[in-house]
Amino acid sequence: MEKEKEKLMHKNSPYALSTIILTTKHSKSIAIAPSFLNLLSAEMIEYPTDTDKLGTFSGEIERIGNPLDCAKIKCQLWMNLTDSYYGLSSEGSFGPHPYMPFLPCDHEILYFIDHHRDFHLYVSCFSEKTNYNMQALDSMEELEKFSAKALFPSHALILRPDNKQNKSHIFKGINSIDMLETAFKDSIKRSTNGKVWVETDMRANMNPLRMSVIQGLAEELAWRLSALCPKCENPGWGKVQAEKGLACSLCGTETELLKAEIYGCAKCDHKEKISPSHHLLKADPGNCSYCNP
Ligand SMILES: [Zn+2]
Ligand SMILES: [Zn+2]
Repeated sequence: MEKEKEKLMHKNSPYALSTIILTTKHSKSIAIAPSFLNLLSAEMIEYPTDTDKLGTFSGEIERIGNPLDCAKIKCQLWMNLTDSYYGLSSEGSFGPHPYMPFLPCDHEILYFIDHHRDFHLYVSCFSEKTNYNMQALDSMEELEKFSAKALFPSHALILRPDNKQNKSHIFKGINSIDMLETAFKDSIKRSTNGKVWVETDMRANMNPLRMSVIQGLAEELAWRLSALCPKCENPGWGKVQAEKGLACSLCGTETELLKAEIYGCAKCDHKEKISPSHHLLKADPGNCSYCNP
């Protein structure tokens, strides 16, 4: 972006020179802080909270509620402990992709609270950019195959005897061959069924792929917070919904292409329909299920 435009935006940033508290245990400011500094001139302070109390990926502590509730509770934690106006938290969950169930998926949420202007705003995404995987196995050869696919050692692993239900002997954050061998030997010795359970360590500081997904989402949130509602001028104006169904130019059937994008405010109920970025008035028959079945 050109320097002048950048300067102007900083001057107009509703969060210029403000401090945002990030509630995290896993150093996520590495992924989040740059966007907030570059796009909003806001600085971020990590509030190192033991968010594991709200549940862990490896299952020792069950997660409370759905990921969105969890993100909100995490974000509110700082409210009771600091007198900052602004708070942010991040929450990830993993499983099959909602639209492509054969692919593993990283579902990330960033939850922002502006106590000063009295509004909450969250953004979320589903990303197939993840190494999320797990398996029961009984040899070092199999473990090496799993490790290679899981991008080990840049991405850490978790090992334990038997299966995911074993909560007493868990090796987390394994990120070297030595650690892996030690964990495997110990786990197989303790195993009652001859198997070792291996899974990818999904904590952000152990998983660069996840960190990059969070980084992309942080940029989206920072952009959104830099845009003001045309009606009430509250920060957080942006896309809240997409309407599919652009008509085929030949037969008029509704296609999967976007017909409109709905923009909304994070605080008031103002909404606007905006023509989608493809700027098409009609869909090419190639996208039509009737003309091109
Ligand atoms: Zn058609
Ligand atoms: Zn508004």
